[in-house]
Amino acid sequence: MSKTGRAAVYKGLGIPMEIKEYPVPEPEPGAILVKVSVANICGSDLHMWRGDLNLGNLGAALPTILGHEATGRVAALGAGISTDSAGQPLKEGDRVVWMYYYPCGRCPACLKGRQAECPANVMYLGPCEAPPHFTGPYADYYYVRPNHTIFKVPDELPDMLVAPVNCALSEMIYGLERVSFGFGETIAIQGAGGLGIYATAVAREMGASRIIVIDGIAQRLEMARAFGADETVDMKQFKTPQERAARVKELTGGWGVDVVAELVGFPQAIPEGLEMLASGGRVLEIGNISLMHGNFETDPAFMVVFSKSIIAVVMYGRDTLKKALDFLVRTRNKYPYDKILSRQYRLEDINQAFEDQNKGLVSRSAIVM
Ligand SMILES: [Zn+2]
Ligand SMILES: [Zn+2]
Repeated sequence: MSKTGRAAVYKGLGIPMEIKEYPVPEPEPGAILVKVSVANICGSDLHMWRGDLNLGNLGAALPTILGHEATGRVAALGAGISTDSAGQPLKEGDRVVWMYYYPCGRCPACLKGRQAECPANVMYLGPCEAPPHFTGPYADYYYVRPNHTIFKVPDELPDMLVAPVNCALSEMIYGLERVSFGFGETIAIQGAGGLGIYATAVAREMGASRIIVIDGIAQRLEMARAFGADETVDMKQFKTPQERAARVKELTGGWGVDVVAELVGFPQAIPEGLEMLASGGRVLEIGNISLMHGNFETDPAFMVVFSKSIIAVVMYGRDTLKKALDFLVRTRNKYPYDKILSRQYRLEDINQAFEDQNKGLVSRSAIVM
């Protein structure tokens, strides 16, 4: 192939991404070349762009190409590849999603099958100056390395619905599994952004008996109800952590909830969540991914005496993306997924898209190639 493809090249903090052309690579045996259709900007992309997440820790050798919530079509299959990771036949032109991180495959976590906990996980293999160039999905192509996890997208799912599976939805499915969320249990969800909305639908489908969503923005609370919340707690009405914890207890017959999902990203939300828990309850900690917000204080005896725990989770498992796709097929007519994405941008306008989302003008944007 002598063709070239565009890529939004990231050179470092504060430097606008530059659109560059790279030669389109031939996939080596076991690899897959994807023609990207959509790549979203999610909260963690924004954290990286702002510098509250250290790209160095995610394995990126600069310059690189950012992004992780994406979907596209198979442009070329490397030798030896005829199926996806679930054994479904795969051919050129099929729509796919792929696991956005690369576990090392050779450590105690990987050995246990817990790739999300691999300490050597990287999101971007790079630098993008060297072949195969297409190290992230804000580009015309994405190069899926040999033996990586990839799934065919069912025909009934439109691209706009599929892109977010590769982050928010998968992380919530995995997170609720990791805290052993059980049929008939109760849950309080702190924060009704993208994660909170998916968490609500997933908890509903996992058999939650009561879902309480907490946020301070009326539109978001309304959205949470449309995605299955039984009750909402408006932070404008319940202003202090004590008032909110008391309200959650009131809504659960005085007991508190079995699980609190912390999806807002403020350390103070954790002690507040612990306060809302029933005895034996678990806090699912996902929100505090950025390093800048400081610490929280809690008396550990309060956790021991009531058997409360905190389980922190990042990324998702090898099989999660498949579960997320199947979940969307089952529930696509039940929840208003089309309301989640807000604005579309062209690849050339990617810097503008980041600026707008950083200013809060857009809650989530989609870069359409
Ligand atoms: Zn590993
Ligand atoms: Zn994401």
